[in-house]
Amino acid sequence: MPPTNSFVTGLYCSKCDATYDINSIQTLCACGAPLLVDYDYRQASEVMKYEKLITRPPSVWRYREILPVLDDAYIVSLGEGGTPLLRSENIGRDLGLERLYFKDETVNPTGSFKARGLGMAVSRAKELGITRLIIPTAGNAGSAVAAYAARAGLECLVIMPKDVPAPFLVDCMYHGAQVELVDGTIKDCGRRAAERAGDEGWFSVATLKEPYRIEGKKTMGYELFEQFSRDLPEVIIYPTGGGTGLIGMWKAFDEMEKMGWINGRRPKMVAVQPEGCAPIPRAFAQGKDHAEEWENPSTLAAGLRVPSAVGDFLMLKAIRQTGGVALTVTDAEIMRDTKELASREGIFSSPEGGASLSCLKKLIEMNFVRPFDRIVVFITGSGYKYLEILKQGIRD
Ligand SMILES: *Cc1c(COP(=O)(O)O)cnc(C)c1O
Repeated sequence: MPPTNSFVTGLYCSKCDATYDINSIQTLCACGAPLLVDYDYRQASEVMKYEKLITRPPSVWRYREILPVLDDAYIVSLGEGGTPLLRSENIGRDLGLERLYFKDETVNPTGSFKARGLGMAVSRAKELGITRLIIPTAGNAGSAVAAYAARAGLECLVIMPKDVPAPFLVDCMYHGAQVELVDGTIKDCGRRAAERAGDEGWFSVATLKEPYRIEGKKTMGYELFEQFSRDLPEVIIYPTGGGTGLIGMWKAFDEMEKMGWINGRRPKMVAVQPEGCAPIPRAFAQGKDHAEEWENPSTLAAGLRVPSAVGDFLMLKAIRQTGGVALTVTDAEIMRDTKELASREGIFSSPEGGASLSCLKKLIEMNFVRPFDRIVVFITGSGYKYLEILKQGIRD
């Protein structure tokens, strides 16, 4: 094996006892559940000391020892990660909260936190010799994979719903990706992607269908730890679709405990979904371990229009184990709060970020949060790709 800065050791199933070889191409476990990446945490923690960490450039790749790419030569980067944690100037005061923060993911390459996961997946795909990538997407994941594939010199095919906002279509095409538009939701796009992957030999980087996107997303958890000066907040609010970010951060907290960075306390993980597509809050309320598919999903927060997810049981586990909760908000609340983020904090967010703020307001009504809790509201994507939708909210 070539010399490596990664302490990766293998892959393990998130549900059963199976383990898999890290040096060959893997997708899901034979049992159907997502695979997760394992590391030698004892050794990694000896090299990745906090004092050393803080001298490195702010980027996903700062956490090099616990990332899965073996050879640095395969890293494909556009400057993803290292995003600001903004303390609230106005909304926190309005709401009676002392320590409210926004994790501003809008500044990532291609305008959303999808860059973290897909930068990682494309790097690792390149290392494994994969040349053709396919993805079903509501928009942001397509932009991200198209950009990283272009930089890596890989072929890319993006399958999107016909009603996807125009900017996603334009940037995918500029990045040289092939695009197919499907009459339906991301679920239908997923079916079409699976067909074409089988027929034409594309490798799917769909959410949790390969093990590496989550490794990119977990870095959000590490960044929080650093930004809170070696500590974690009390509450994290996350607009949830396929759930890679939620599951990724949950994995990151586990890893930090294994490396001796934190004790057993975890931030309460709160998942928010729109009323028109809320499989996770419904399963949470019913006490179920898996979420049933949501019929006729409808919401203007396109990134959250995910009627079913392979990682549903992991999200539910993360929410329950941390004492969190899963809530719904309406599209009207989402629009109102997307605007409030812009007008009161200067953050021009996509509707998903608005959903996080609407969820916070529900948590306050429920007395779920205390005035002095450190609360992190995730702003996952930029508003600039949603101008057509946001335009409708100007006069309200
Ligand atoms: C994809 C997406 C989400 C949902 O993220 P998951 O990690 O898949 O749950 C939220 N917000 C935006 C802007 C997205 O693009």
